Amino acid sequence: MKITAVRSIMGGIPIPGGGFAPAWWPGQVIRDLWFTVCVIETDAGITGFGPGGFRTGGWTGEAFIRKHLLGHDPRTLDIGALAEHPESLPMAKGNRPVALEFALWDLLGKACGQPVYRMLGGYKDSIKAYCSTGSVTDAGSHIDFAHNAIERGYRAIKLRMHRATVDDDLAVVRAVRDAVGDRLEIMADANQAQNPYWTRADALRAARGLQELGATWLEEPLAMHDAEGLAMVAGAVDMPIAGAENEYGMPRYAEFLMRGALDILQPDLEGCGGLLEWRKIAAVCEAYRAPCLGHVWNNGLVVVVALHASCSVPNAPYLEVTDDPFWPARERDLIMAEPLRVVDGMVQVPTGPGWGIELDWDVVRAHTTSEVVVRI
Ligand SMILES: [Mg+2]
Repeated sequence: MKITAVRSIMGGIPIPGGGFAPAWWPGQVIRDLWFTVCVIETDAGITGFGPGGFRTGGWTGEAFIRKHLLGHDPRTLDIGALAEHPESLPMAKGNRPVALEFALWDLLGKACGQPVYRMLGGYKDSIKAYCSTGSVTDAGSHIDFAHNAIERGYRAIKLRMHRATVDDDLAVVRAVRDAVGDRLEIMADANQAQNPYWTRADALRAARGLQELGATWLEEPLAMHDAEGLAMVAGAVDMPIAGAENEYGMPRYAEFLMRGALDILQPDLEGCGGLLEWRKIAAVCEAYRAPCLGHVWNNGLVVVVALHASCSVPNAPYLEVTDDPFWPARERDLIMAEPLRVVDGMVQVPTGPGWGIELDWDVVRAHTTSEVVVRI
C-alpha cells in the first residue's frame, strides 16, 4: 500500500438566517460554516481524512508531503515522529501539520480495521455531550433553545457571558436555570481570553454568582496571561474554573496546573498541536486529577476527532458539541454522511475503522471553494 496523493479541500456552507455573531468576537458576523478537509489517498483504495488543511501559516506543506508521505506505506509511518518532525515544527502554532496527523490516524485505523480511540488506548465508548452555544441573545431565546436542546437529547448546555455587565449575564443564567431546573447542567463561558474586558473583581463576582446557581464550571474569566488572577478566582470558589482553549503545546498547559490557575484544561484539538499533543496534555492533567476537555468550535468532523481523543483518555468527562440557533446542528454535520446523535445526554464514539464515519462527498464537492492536490 502506497500513499499516492494528499488533498486539502476548503469550503463553506451558508448559515441560514443571516449568519452567526460570536459572543467572543463582538461586531463580527460569520456567514459560512467553514470546513477544511485533508485527504490522503492510497493505491489500495483506502483513503484517510481529517479536519484542516496543509497550507497553514507560512508553511505550505508540499515539500514535507513529497518527502515524508508520498510513496510510503501508511502502515510503516511513525505518526508521532512526523507530527513533531523538525521540518514541521511551528514558527507559530498554526504551522504544525495537524491535518496530516488527523488524516494519517484515520488511514492507519482503516488499514488496521480499528477505531482511532482504541488504537490510542481506549477508555470508554461514549461520553457526556454538552450543547455549546455561542451567541449572546435575550433570556427568552436562551430558554427556548435550552428546551430545544433537552428535546434533542442534551443534559448539559453552555451559555456565554459577554454582556455589558456581569449582572446582566447572571440574570440570563438564572432565567435559564429557573426554566429548566435540574434537567440541564449549565456551564458558562466568559471568553475573556480574547479581548478581555472583565476586571478581577468582575471575574470573582461572576464565579460566586454562578456557583450559587449551581453552574458546572466558569470558563475563561480572565486573560490567560493573568495566571495569578485566575488562581485567585479558582481559590475563591468550589466551582471549577476552566480554560486555555487558545494555547499551544503541552508545556504551556502544564504551567496552568502548576500555578493553580485552572481546574479544567480545554486544549483545542487543532490549536494545541494535534491529537498526540492533546493526549500529552491529558496525561499532565491526570497527574493533577484534572479533567482535560477537547475544545471545539467548528463542523461535525472536528467534533468526531474530539470524541475519539476524549474516549482515548481516562479524564475527559465532557464533549463540547457546537450547537447554537445560529450555528445549527444540521449545517454543522452536512459534510458527514450521518449527523452526530445525542441520546440521553451521551454521544457514542463510532466504532468502525479510523474515525468510523463517512463524509458526504456530494455536499463537500458542492461547497468546495478551493483545493490543493499534491500527488506522485
Ligand atoms: Mg470557550
